[in-house]
Amino acid sequence: MTSSKKSMGDEKSLWGVDLGGTKIEGVILKSAANPEVLFRHRLPTEADQGYAHILDQVKKLIDKMQAEAGYLPAHIGFGTPGTLDPKRGVMKNCNTVVMNGQPMKVDLEKMLGVRVEMANDADCFALAEARYGVVKDQFPDARVVFGVILGTGVGGGIVVDGKAIIGLQGIAGEWGHNFLDESGGPCYCGKTGCVEKVISGPALEKYYFNETGNKKPLKDIVALAESKVDPTAQKTMLRLVEFYGKALSVIVNILDPDVIVIGGGVGNIDLLYDRGLDALRKYIFNTSLDTPIVRPLLGDSAGVIGAAFLVS
Ligand SMILES: [Zn+2]
Repeated sequence: MTSSKKSMGDEKSLWGVDLGGTKIEGVILKSAANPEVLFRHRLPTEADQGYAHILDQVKKLIDKMQAEAGYLPAHIGFGTPGTLDPKRGVMKNCNTVVMNGQPMKVDLEKMLGVRVEMANDADCFALAEARYGVVKDQFPDARVVFGVILGTGVGGGIVVDGKAIIGLQGIAGEWGHNFLDESGGPCYCGKTGCVEKVISGPALEKYYFNETGNKKPLKDIVALAESKVDPTAQKTMLRLVEFYGKALSVIVNILDPDVIVIGGGVGNIDLLYDRGLDALRKYIFNTSLDTPIVRPLLGDSAGVIGAAFLVS
């Protein structure tokens, strides 16, 4: 079996783990220069069984990867919900709440006997799209990339020259909890009117429900708006477009990235790529909008691929 083990890469290969709330996925990429996926495996996180159990699941995954590859690398990248507080060394802002307050980096390093690099899942998304996805494909000269997750939650990641920018407090790129509009109401983060409370999928569904008394999933609201049969659905979409422009203008004014990649379920809505750009153009501190705003290429795999890039 030696030959098949050799095909799982060597010291140049990159190992990444996406530690999600429902599944833990691992991947081995051939190399930074040629990031072909050599191996992929996933396990349920079973977060309801607690933090120690999550660590056990990670161990099981890495053991499996080691058995397949025939070696263990010196360095593994992990994408996580929330983020590691760089000063305090503990996890924070995780919606998988059992991770919060835990010294996860140290625990993983002790348990696995390797060095661990960690970043938020939105950082990993941005990194993957920058180095392997749509940016590498269509904008190979881009140096500053902003990756947006616009779905159930709203997050973001900044990549400069192929590296994720984590920030002093580990919150670089977290535009989802910038203030946007009072109408968003209280947020789980303790503040009011966050971007996430105005333009996330659940926020749009809530707005439609408050206006009509009808509970509908976002995809139905989008379809109703597109077929122009429901004025409230159209109003919900126009409100999204307007606030999307306002929210994203802050990013463009501060970072002025070479390209913005929009991921997540809400990010799929076609309107964001025509009228959304008009709204953004209206709110930025410039007379024109040159920033390319594009859809991602990698789909669900972006998180785990980005995690692997954390080590190179
Ligand atoms: Zn918030």
